[in-house]
Amino acid sequence: MEIANFSAGPAALPRPVLERAREGLGPFGTAGVPILSQSHRGPDYDRVHRRAREGIARLLGLPASHEVLLLQGGASTQFAHVPLNFLPPGRSADYVITGAWSEKALAEARRLSKVAGEARVAGTTEDQGSYRRVPGEAELDLSPDAAYVHLTSNNTIFGTQFHGFPRTESWKVADMSSDLLSRPMDVSGFGLIYAGAQKNLGPAGLTVVLGHSDWLRSGRTDLPNIVRYAVHADKDSLYHTPPTFAVYLTMLVVDWIDEQGGLEAMEAANARKQAMVYEAIDRSDGFYQNPVEVASRSWMNVVFRLPNEEIESEFLKQAEELGLHGLKGHRSVGGVRASLYNAVGIDDVERLVEHMESFRRSGA
Ligand code: PMP
Repeated sequence: MEIANFSAGPAALPRPVLERAREGLGPFGTAGVPILSQSHRGPDYDRVHRRAREGIARLLGLPASHEVLLLQGGASTQFAHVPLNFLPPGRSADYVITGAWSEKALAEARRLSKVAGEARVAGTTEDQGSYRRVPGEAELDLSPDAAYVHLTSNNTIFGTQFHGFPRTESWKVADMSSDLLSRPMDVSGFGLIYAGAQKNLGPAGLTVVLGHSDWLRSGRTDLPNIVRYAVHADKDSLYHTPPTFAVYLTMLVVDWIDEQGGLEAMEAANARKQAMVYEAIDRSDGFYQNPVEVASRSWMNVVFRLPNEEIESEFLKQAEELGLHGLKGHRSVGGVRASLYNAVGIDDVERLVEHMESFRRSGA
């Protein structure tokens, strides 16, 4: 049975990418040894590295002012690197809080209070321990001289997403771990964007950072080199050994997105997929409930509840038996979560919707 993978991350990778990845395990390029075992300073890896960086830039239509870095450490490392570089003592940065991941980003910045500036909350949609929407621009209390404004574009756990970004006078910094490359976007107001690769971009191990070249290089210099964006940027992301196989796989994902028609094609498919699941929820007479305000609904992570936890467990058990994998909600909130990243097919979503319909009709 073919498994449809709705995992929130590490997530489904396109089948052709997995097939091509096997080539990386055999003799590769001019050196004739697997890419896994080649020097990151050799010509074969150099081509992979360049194609991955250029491919991401090309897909996004990145302006010449911005560049792509390929780093390690996951999005969580960026929670610390951003304030270390860009929040010097005496300044403040604005944090927009829309879920567990932005709370973590804020908490990491605040751990630096003795050596960095102040991380202040410029807005939050927290409501009795939960988050059901993202804030509108008018709700934000942005400080005109903030060092940056930090936000999380898609809230993987609570299933909310910004479908337009607030205008800010300071550079925006965004954690786009769960929606980068899921649709076209304008990066011009962003000083820095970061994403763990393991949702739409590739496997875990690679962290993609996009940044405004001058701003990236404007960070504090009294830091260890490994933490400084300027060092990684000046060394073309080869300051130290990059996660070479993860970069190779991401290069293949970029090729695959290109073959599908680029980010416009991703957006069209993602629009259809999310509509199918939300429609199944909305026509269920309350059997399935999505707690998110309609305008903030995530296209990437659709969360929903069933009448009680027992019925939820039965829904999830039957789903696994039908080959629908990874639908359990995040352990902190429970419920069901269908992650609909780029590599999840329309046919996978059709199978999920069929299960939702027939489970509800069965009167469970
Ligand atoms: N931010 C968001 C929006 C996420 O979804 C995740 C992981 N699910 C993280 C940050 C943490 O990423 P990592 O595990 O790569 O540090």
